[in-house]
Amino acid sequence: MSEAKDIGFQVKTPTKLCDDPNCPFHGSLKVRGKLLSGKVVSVSSNKLAVVLRESYKHDTKYMRYLKRRAKLHAHLPPCLELKVGDIATVAECRPIAKTVSFVVVDKSAGSAATMLETAV
Ligand SMILES: [Zn+2]
Repeated sequence: MSEAKDIGFQVKTPTKLCDDPNCPFHGSLKVRGKLLSGKVVSVSSNKLAVVLRESYKHDTKYMRYLKRRAKLHAHLPPCLELKVGDIATVAECRPIAKTVSFVVVDKSAGSAATMLETAV
């Protein structure tokens, strides 16, 4: 693949190229559905990133907010370089593995991601 394609979400196109078939920019992976963002807590060599999302849930009985954390496994194409601690934007895709149905599409959380996340 020579050219990055438009994935349909308003995210930055990576400057690097890759030949990963499961890359939404350079492969044949289609993304649709949710666009989420979170903090990268683990990056593995087999193209996997673990993204931690934190949210607050209102406790109606005790009138306070409870902190909720959810880890999400996302496929990491080689054209995107992520480190632990980065903020990543992930897009929903078909299931790539048993627990992987998201793919990293951007290194930092863009305004498009936060906008869509509140709309969902
Ligand atoms: Zn790529």
